[in-house]
Amino acid sequence: MKYISTRGKAPVLGFEDVMLSGLAVDGGLYVPQEWPSFTTKQISEMQGSSYNEIAEKVTMPFVDGELDNVTLRKLIEDSYSRFGHPDKAPLIQIEKNMWVLELFHGPTLAFKDFALQLLGNLFEEVLKRREQRITIVGATSGDTGSAAIEACKFRDNIDIFILHPEGRTSEIQRRQMTTVDAKNVHNISIQGSFDDCQDLVKLMFGDMDFRNNHNLSAVNSINWVRIMAQVVYYFTSALALGAPDKKISYAVPTGNFGDVFAGYVAKKMGLSIERLIVATNANDILSRFFERNDMSVRPVVSTLSPSMDIQVSSNFERLVFDLAQNDSGVVRRAIKSFRDTGHMELPFGMLESARQTFAAARLEDEGILAVIRSLWKSCNVVVDPHTATGIHAAKEKLSQHGNPVVALATAHPAKFPDSVAAAIGHSPRLPDKLSHIMSADEQYVVLPADIETVKQYVATHANSVGS
Ligand SMILES: *Cc1c(COP(=O)(O)O)cnc(C)c1O
Repeated sequence: MKYISTRGKAPVLGFEDVMLSGLAVDGGLYVPQEWPSFTTKQISEMQGSSYNEIAEKVTMPFVDGELDNVTLRKLIEDSYSRFGHPDKAPLIQIEKNMWVLELFHGPTLAFKDFALQLLGNLFEEVLKRREQRITIVGATSGDTGSAAIEACKFRDNIDIFILHPEGRTSEIQRRQMTTVDAKNVHNISIQGSFDDCQDLVKLMFGDMDFRNNHNLSAVNSINWVRIMAQVVYYFTSALALGAPDKKISYAVPTGNFGDVFAGYVAKKMGLSIERLIVATNANDILSRFFERNDMSVRPVVSTLSPSMDIQVSSNFERLVFDLAQNDSGVVRRAIKSFRDTGHMELPFGMLESARQTFAAARLEDEGILAVIRSLWKSCNVVVDPHTATGIHAAKEKLSQHGNPVVALATAHPAKFPDSVAAAIGHSPRLPDKLSHIMSADEQYVVLPADIETVKQYVATHANSVGS
């Protein structure tokens, strides 16, 4: 499989190089040159297979020509061996036609473990074979950082630097990152917002000398492997609910548009998906876009669902490229307008075709608390604030055809004890595998949102210098 950049000015690369480079050198994101797809019969044949077996079938076309089945299978099995549920991603029913897909049984209790556990293993496999080192730099609004650190800690060929916005992640999210005591792990608390952190990471990638000197690599959802791994649970859950004979809709709590884009990829690959409902919080740029073609940046506001406190969703570029039928000129113009004016509009035809699959719904903090409370009362199920936005979106856009709707539960409620307590009067118990972090020592530096200062810090702390 070959990959091309959404901006059309970077070399065509194979899977391993796409994984190692993360962002394309022209600033674009890599996508497969064409979408692999399964026939209805091939999809039917997946019924009854385990999570790992489906993962192998779904991801194999993307690594084809570079990794063999046996290696891929071994990496998949290892990646999901530490998940706390035999199904890996279990479904629970909350209403007629409505399910919650629990994606929080991984080591850091957020859905990002699905992609990052596999990415960490793939990095190690490829770097050992190539005898290379990389320096990972990433920005996190909460969950990416801990999942990435958990996946990369103690690995010989990797240094990892994670930037988080000071005071804007939950205490548990911060402690999950800062209590990992590994020499190759570096936490940086940035005096700014998540978008500032993301900009700093983009600037480091944009500096070719810096990028090459330190072999920079990305674990944010700009990395194709993140999307690829997330496609799998759309397949497993849709199959469990009757696909390919039934059409399934998904409501997806959205920040960087990676998770919901993985659903779009699953649909492109032939999975019978009816709708993808983008759930946003008060940072509703994506809802405004799908509702009225209004993609304009507003200041980021802090909400009870911090992992969605994002205005500029990196992966949206992948959707624009696909809607433009791989015309990178359309992407370059849209991005330029967005950067220059803070505003972008897509040609009406593209918006119309997006709307055939996508819908959107937003939910503010008060609504989030109300959803958590009502689900607890009606089903005795406790969800986290991100998941609450998805459940609201699922209810608002429930299929008129009576088809199943699945709301993605992206984090364990125990990661957000204060919000949950505000909704139901008590906080959920922190699962045993995390209880040690509340008393362990934290290690991080605080730096201003200044690119030179951050680069200097990375340069002096990366072991890969000169090697
Ligand atoms: C990262 C994250 C999201 C947003 O996912 P994207 O792929 O960035 O859209 C939603 N909920 C939780 C809990 C997350 O950690």
